[in-house]
Amino acid sequence: MSALLLSGREASAAILAALKPKIGKLDPKLVVVQVGDDPGSSSYIKQKIKSAAEVGMRSEHCHLASSMSLEELLSKVAELNADPDVTGFIVQLPLPDHLQPHVPEIIRAIDPKKDVDGFGAYNLGKVFLSKEFEHLPPATPAGIIMLLEYYKIPVAGKHVVIVGRSNIVGKPLAVMMLNRDATVTVCHSKTKNLSAITKQADILVAAIGKPKFITGDMVKPGAIVIDVGTSRVDGKLTGDVDFEVVQEIASAITPVPGGVGPMTVCSLIKNCVQAKERQMKDMQTNI
Ligand code: NAP
Repeated sequence: MSALLLSGREASAAILAALKPKIGKLDPKLVVVQVGDDPGSSSYIKQKIKSAAEVGMRSEHCHLASSMSLEELLSKVAELNADPDVTGFIVQLPLPDHLQPHVPEIIRAIDPKKDVDGFGAYNLGKVFLSKEFEHLPPATPAGIIMLLEYYKIPVAGKHVVIVGRSNIVGKPLAVMMLNRDATVTVCHSKTKNLSAITKQADILVAAIGKPKFITGDMVKPGAIVIDVGTSRVDGKLTGDVDFEVVQEIASAITPVPGGVGPMTVCSLIKNCVQAKERQMKDMQTNI
C-alpha cells in the first residue's frame, strides 16, 4: 500500500492563508541578501520572494557582487539591523568561498530580533528552553513540526530518529522534538549500524544531503518519513530517501520537491510576522 503523501505545498498554502490577515495588519518586510550567483540559492530566493508576494508581504532581494569583502557584507548587515522598515532579513547560504568560513561571524552580526532564519545563538538558545520560548525558531525544523501538526501526526512518546546533525536542521529539530515529548535519536556520519537505528524510528527524518541514501531496508513498516535532502541529480531535485521504494513501506512520506521545502519558506514568513509582532510590542513598552 502506498504511503500518505505529506504535501508541504498544501500545508504551507493553508498556513499562509490563515496568516494573511495578520500580514495585512502588521505590514512586515523581509529582505533576502544574496552574495554571488549560486544557482541553488537563486532558485530558493525566487521561491521565498514569490511566496511572500502571494501572501501580501513586502520583500526585497538584495543581490550583492560575489567579490564583496567581509567588511562590506558586515556593513550591509549593520545597515539592515538599523533600518526600522526592515522587519527581518536572512543572508542566503552558501556564501562564496572567501566568505563561507566567516558564516558564524556574519550570523552573529544579525540583530536577534531580525534573525528570521533563526540561526543565531540567541534564537537557537531560546529553543533549548522550552516550546514556549521558540520565538524565532530555525525555519526548516519549525517547518517540519508545522507539517506534522497540519497532518495531525502526534510526536509525543514517538521514537524520532534524525539522520544529520547540522546546526540548521538536525540539532535544532532534535531539541524541538524533545520539547514535544518525543524520544529522540540523532545519527551522523560516525554512527555505527545506522540501519539498525533508523529501523526503530516511528518518525524518520533524513537531513544528510546524499541522494536516495535512505533505502527500503532502513525503514520500519508504517513509519512516517520526512525527507529534508535536496540534491541535484541530472538537473532534477532529489531527496535523501529512495522515494519509490520507501513509499511502499512507510505510512506517510514527504515528496521532494513539494515537501519540506515549501514548509521552510512558510516558517520564514511566519517568523517575519512574529518578529514584527515582538518589535511592535517592544515599541509600545518603550513609550
Ligand atoms: P550538512 O550540514 O552537510 O549536514 C549533513 C549531515 O549528514 C551531517 O550531520 C553529517 O554527519 C550527516 N551525514 C553525512 N553522511 C552521512 C552518512 N553516511 N551517514 C550518516 N550521516 C551522514 O547538511 P544540512 O545543511 O543539514 O542539509 C542536509 C540536506 O538538507 C541537504 O541536502 C540540504 O540541501 C537540505 N536542506 C533542505 C532544506 C529545505 O528547506 N528543504 C533546508 C536545509 C537543508 P557529520 O556531522 O558526522 O558530518
